[in-house]
Amino acid sequence: MTDSRHTPVSPTLPAKADRRQFINAAGASLAALAGAPELAASVLAQQPSSQATSGGTVPDLIVINAKVYTMDPRAPRAEAFAVSGGRFVAVGSTSDVRNLAGKSTQTFDAKGMTVVPGFIDCHNHAGGETLLNEVLVGNPFEVEFVSIRSIIGKLRDRAQNTPPGQWVEGFFFDDTKLSDKRALNIHDLDEVSSEHPVIVRHRGGHTYFYNSKAFQMAGITKDTPNPMGGTYDKDANGNLNGRVTDLASAPFSKVGTRKTYTAAENETRARDGVAHISKQFARYGLTSVHHEGGSLQAMQDVRARGELKHRISYETNGRSLESMIGAGIQSGFGDEWIKFGATAEHTVDGSFSERTMALSTPYPNVTPPYKGNVTETQDTLNQWVERVHRAGIQVNCHANGDVAIDMYLTAMERALKLAPRANARPKITHCTLVNPSLIARMKAMGAVPALFTTYAYYNTDKFVFYGEEMMKNSMAFRSLIDAGIYACAGSDFSPGPFAALMGIQGMVTRKGWDGKVWGANQKITVSEAIAVNTYNGAWASGEEAIKGSITAGKLADYVVLADDPHTVDPEKIKDIQIVRTVVGGTISHQA
Ligand SMILES: [Zn+2]
Repeated sequence: MTDSRHTPVSPTLPAKADRRQFINAAGASLAALAGAPELAASVLAQQPSSQATSGGTVPDLIVINAKVYTMDPRAPRAEAFAVSGGRFVAVGSTSDVRNLAGKSTQTFDAKGMTVVPGFIDCHNHAGGETLLNEVLVGNPFEVEFVSIRSIIGKLRDRAQNTPPGQWVEGFFFDDTKLSDKRALNIHDLDEVSSEHPVIVRHRGGHTYFYNSKAFQMAGITKDTPNPMGGTYDKDANGNLNGRVTDLASAPFSKVGTRKTYTAAENETRARDGVAHISKQFARYGLTSVHHEGGSLQAMQDVRARGELKHRISYETNGRSLESMIGAGIQSGFGDEWIKFGATAEHTVDGSFSERTMALSTPYPNVTPPYKGNVTETQDTLNQWVERVHRAGIQVNCHANGDVAIDMYLTAMERALKLAPRANARPKITHCTLVNPSLIARMKAMGAVPALFTTYAYYNTDKFVFYGEEMMKNSMAFRSLIDAGIYACAGSDFSPGPFAALMGIQGMVTRKGWDGKVWGANQKITVSEAIAVNTYNGAWASGEEAIKGSITAGKLADYVVLADDPHTVDPEKIKDIQIVRTVVGGTISHQA
């Protein structure tokens, strides 16, 4: 890997060199070469024994004349960097880096554009198959108002190519993103078809809308009592209005037919789905995504074909998790492209957007008093957490409300006491409503919360159900960062869009698409919001030594932005064009 023809950019140090000395020596050397001491250069060997980054390798690529926000506190700003073998090998001034180029080196002149590390989404259901094959009745990626007429039209088109009795389904519906000033109802869906059962699925995943044919097939009438954990909603006259919540949807899954596929077709669909969502991630600047389940085989196949455009931290549960435990596979197994991360979110309570998360005080304006749903007993949770933790797997629980977060921390404190392990980094998916005592306990155990990121912009129309007092302590980036906790980004796609820039805008402004501001005390700076979406995401999966900042030695994952989020109008951050997304030095998206 080393090539002595080229001038080394930093002294070659013995393998066991003290890292700090090395950084200082390398930085001094590069700065001296450039005669630009004001621009601190960072040349860091993350793995001194194996690094091949500073021995004079001719870079494959140099990026110059950029506004680089490295997210490396030792050298936060730079103008240029060099990439070799898929890693950053030098970061510094344009003149420094230009000096490293050889005949074979490609040069990208950023012409003053902004470069930040690749964005990392730490909670994503990554449903590429749905995006590719299903009828999308809402916009998965942006705030867009759709008409009930358009929903009916799209579903009618699908019904015309579907045999009677087979389900016609619509995805990505959002009840608060309708241009009509009324709710979608059973009569709208009866216009789609009287021969097919029709379902429109809310993107939040907890509510469904059906036509009369579906109710008839499921044997549900206006007189059917609500089951435990769900409802058949009624209109003012006591008739079914089409909306069904949570567990009440169970009878519908037993009726009607769905198109079936051969094993080979299913494989193809899964592969195409992964390849498709990978392109979408690249389009929005994501270079690493924590996948909730999905076909691990498809992910590997897509990679083998050279079509994987992002790095995967694979999270799983159920039988697949049991198999991992049985085989002795621990977190970190895999490589820099596909790695086994934490467990998938193990659910302790309900949802934020559907107002079922477990609260210590009742929901405002709800009678009789309602505090949400805890979905597991403390004892069962304790046992599960201990078993996973003992297996060397990063524990990850879905906990939204303060009650659920307390339960999870209790289980984790117990497991860490029984089996102490440094850097266990228990992951808290959502971690929505916190308080000072929970934050102190999280800090003490080194927990990593993956908070909703795009909700502060996309879902403010649902914050009114909690009110300002609770929103002051919800998605509490300010409080968590001030406590020294590595809060990271978790879009929870499909419930939330995964655009990192939309997430950053919401964290900085706490202002929604509707112009309403909630919990302004939790605002963070642009720089902090970028760290949430980059370095903190790397930390969450224990990969901060190889990603999350533009630092020599790390993977060359970065995003070129047409504008600087630090200087544009904060309410326009989400509109900044992603000019280029690069993973391991290779372009994964080009505008
Ligand atoms: Zn989720």
